[in-house]
Amino acid sequence: MYVLGIETSCDETATAIYHAEKGLISHTLYSQIETHSAYGGVVPELASRDHIRKLVPLIKQTIQDGKLTPHDINGIAYTAGPGLMGALLVGAATARSLAWTWGIPVIGVHHMEGHLLAPMLEDNPPQFPFVALLISGGHSLLIAVTGIGAYQLLGESLDDAAGEAFDKTAKMLGLPYPGGPKLAKLAEQGQERFKFPRPMTDRPGLDFSFSGLKTYTLNTINSTEQTPQDKADVAYAFQKAMAETLTIKCRRALEQTGLNTLVIAGGVSANQEIRRHLLDMAQAQGTRIYFPRPEFCTDNGAMIAYAGCQRLRAGQTQNLEIFARPRWPMAELTVTSH
Ligand code: ATP
Ligand code: MG
Ligand code: FE
Repeated sequence: MYVLGIETSCDETATAIYHAEKGLISHTLYSQIETHSAYGGVVPELASRDHIRKLVPLIKQTIQDGKLTPHDINGIAYTAGPGLMGALLVGAATARSLAWTWGIPVIGVHHMEGHLLAPMLEDNPPQFPFVALLISGGHSLLIAVTGIGAYQLLGESLDDAAGEAFDKTAKMLGLPYPGGPKLAKLAEQGQERFKFPRPMTDRPGLDFSFSGLKTYTLNTINSTEQTPQDKADVAYAFQKAMAETLTIKCRRALEQTGLNTLVIAGGVSANQEIRRHLLDMAQAQGTRIYFPRPEFCTDNGAMIAYAGCQRLRAGQTQNLEIFARPRWPMAELTVTSH
């Protein structure tokens, strides 16, 4: 079964083809960063227009790259939410229309389920059950995963998501949007100088809060001359605080659930310092740990094609409606396999 995956939830237009037995066949991505960077963040209307412009050419490209024709495609998976409504509707309407034209089933996929399952695209995939840490632009979630769709929320951010905290801190340091990866680059020049708080680690529980860390960062920046070295030292301290906070919470989640497999996904999981801290902890605990390859940490079509393929194979399909949900709690997903 060849499944075409479509991702248009935010500022990446991405497509891929995944085959149930052969694995990932092809994938392409167009990033809208240049469109939005002048505004310092994503402009929803511009995002929708760009998706309209790019999606069909990308679908053609992916089919061609896979040395396939439209007749070979057996199902379509698209991101139905959460995300920007206008952006989601481009993917939903295109997927629904193509499925109708080609006479094949279509399924609306939850974007965070896509991120969660991205490590399954690698050669040595994790086995259920596991603890998942999803850290992205809009989410910070700790989840106990017992199968596809079987997600028990253990903890979440009470305010900013991890990626959002990276991006806002980067902005304070004068770095252009999206600042997360640029802050990580700047931190390479930084040294151990400031000690930032590790929010909510001194009390029990698995929730996160990053807005206090942001304020602390701003105050620290303002207490310096803001030389390039000052900024690099702040970036270093911020990144280290994030890495240690996330690691403490993961260790706690593993202890609480008694599980010994950890999966990390979402854009922030591309961060090398965070990976290093989590790898060290996992090694010390004898925990197996899994990450997607860096390009599948951030938004991509492959994770949507993979997640959709699992659901289509289980017989799930969308009816004729154009289904999109800008807000969509993961707990509402149906359990597909254990
Ligand atoms: P969501 O998935 O919650 O809807 P999103 O799709 O916008 O949000 P992703 O594409 O998963 O988020 O990830 C983008 C986020 O990851 C941005 O906040 C970006 O700054 C952050 N990010 C990407 N690479 C790195 C990195 N190396 N270090 C820190 N943050 C990073
Ligand atoms: Mg993005
Ligand atoms: Fe995402």
